[in-house]
Amino acid sequence: MSHNRSAIERTALQTLVTDIAARMAGESDRGHVADYIPELAKVPLNRFGLAIAPLDQPPVVAGDADIAFSIQSISKVFSLTLGLERLGATLWQRVGREPSGNAFNSIIQLEYERGVPRNPFINAGAIVLADVLVEGRDAETAIADILALVRELSGDSAIDSDSAVSSSEARTGARNRSLAHFMAAEGNMRAKVEDALSVYFGQCSVAMSCRQLALAGRFLAAGGSGEEVTIAHVTPERARRINALMMTCGCYDASGEVAYRIGLPCKSGVGGGVLAIVPGVASVAAWCPGLDEKGNSRLAMRALEDLAHGTGWSVFGARRRRDVED
Ligand code: GLN
Repeated sequence: MSHNRSAIERTALQTLVTDIAARMAGESDRGHVADYIPELAKVPLNRFGLAIAPLDQPPVVAGDADIAFSIQSISKVFSLTLGLERLGATLWQRVGREPSGNAFNSIIQLEYERGVPRNPFINAGAIVLADVLVEGRDAETAIADILALVRELSGDSAIDSDSAVSSSEARTGARNRSLAHFMAAEGNMRAKVEDALSVYFGQCSVAMSCRQLALAGRFLAAGGSGEEVTIAHVTPERARRINALMMTCGCYDASGEVAYRIGLPCKSGVGGGVLAIVPGVASVAAWCPGLDEKGNSRLAMRALEDLAHGTGWSVFGARRRRDVED
């Protein structure tokens, strides 16, 4: 991949992003909203937003880029960042770094693997992270820490957690409770299970727009710039490692397909958002609430694929613009 930041020029990027948003607006195959969390089922399917936050320029946006949506599992990138800050490498005794090959809320592997989740981005792994963040404090303080991080990273103090969504999740969270109690039985939870779950539901319910999310993701793109820059909260090495986990595990059992089609570290959420990192160049957020069978946004993924083709962005090597893939 070219690390040349001017690899694509701003007006060309704006045209590309506007074209993608127009194409997505006309798309009829939009997937289905996540209705297992009743509050998310209320979001109109016709929404689509796209924002690119280059490291060295203001964001380039199109569509509904300023409408806030539930970031859901994208929050796991931020809780992992804080968890690593808190525990350092000892975190990896409690959660793995391998793709699970299973659905994000699957419980099957946890029993075989003695309550140690495969990675921090499946629900079980993120609940361990929530436990790390709440140990020794209360849930409100831990959620406030996550909010403080995203506010700082995006430079926007208005970002908040949506209490209607978190109560909706808490009411319907039997599966997440099962994961948490199973891990407690295996000795992999330190705080009260209900406190860790409150943090988990609270972080998933943080509402952000594509613009805010793209800005917040820049610390991970900056880590790949190869420059000796001071990045808030992560060393360049840690940013690279978080990017590696996003690439291998960020879209659950579709992570291989996402690497193949998009070629960038991505983290998705069932609110329909996807955060993608172009190391050394930019952070990107795309959003459309309709999901595919794996729980990833159908059109946000398609938009990222179009963007990767249109810009040539990929961590796997240079690609000619508009290369044809089979
Ligand atoms: N809050 C959601 C859940 O626990 C997050 C899942 C997701 O975004 N993939 O099911």
